[in-house]
Amino acid sequence: MKITRQKHAKKHLSFYRHNFRFREPYQVLLDGTFCQAALRNKIQIKEQLPGYLMGEVQLCTTRCVMKELESLGKELYGAKLIAQRFQVRNCAHLESPISSSECLLSMIANDNPHHYFIATQDHSLGNKVRKRAGVPLIFIIQNTMVLDKPSPKSVAHVQAQQISQLVPEHQKHNLEHLKDEQGVAAGTERRGKKRKRVGGPNPLSCMKKKKKKSPEVPPTPAGSQKKRRRKKKGNSALKGVAESV
Ligand SMILES: [Zn+2]
Repeated sequence: MKITRQKHAKKHLSFYRHNFRFREPYQVLLDGTFCQAALRNKIQIKEQLPGYLMGEVQLCTTRCVMKELESLGKELYGAKLIAQRFQVRNCAHLESPISSSECLLSMIANDNPHHYFIATQDHSLGNKVRKRAGVPLIFIIQNTMVLDKPSPKSVAHVQAQQISQLVPEHQKHNLEHLKDEQGVAAGTERRGKKRKRVGGPNPLSCMKKKKKKSPEVPPTPAGSQKKRRRKKKGNSALKGVAESV
């Protein structure tokens, strides 16, 4: 099970590395729900996540996440202790903190320029993350951390990108021109074929001509006969010469 889990992670990571330029150290933004789930499942995030992602990992969070954990009190005290060990990234809500889920979504706005992973157990946040292209999602399931497979949004984004890369704008215009030309060419070919088809009766006329020629044919053998005669004559002449000699 572990091997297949790792294989899937490797496959998903290479997708983000190739298509969204993710590089080590991987920037993982964690919220309170993920820290709480890790605590419950006895998962050592800092120790286990680099091994799972097979690379250096930078664990980080935001002020808003910390503020929310502080406000939730004793129940999330352990989660808060875990989150305190992470780097606190600057968000745009220094003076007026917002909910952690909204804050994390703001951190991945504008096509996730800082290449953040989002680690959360908040299902509604997870679903919102999946609607953004190029944001890897990590959650905890059955006592283990799992890198979610690239969302349909991410896959569609990559496919659209690949198509536009394969056919640049100026080439698209060229292709259209080529198509037009080919269409015209195909039309002329068709016309040519039609002409040939129209000219179908011509062989029949040729046959008639042959029939007309056929009576003319006998004279040519006659000519050949003449030639033969000449040859014969020549031969006879030669014979005559030979005889005379
Ligand atoms: Zn914030």
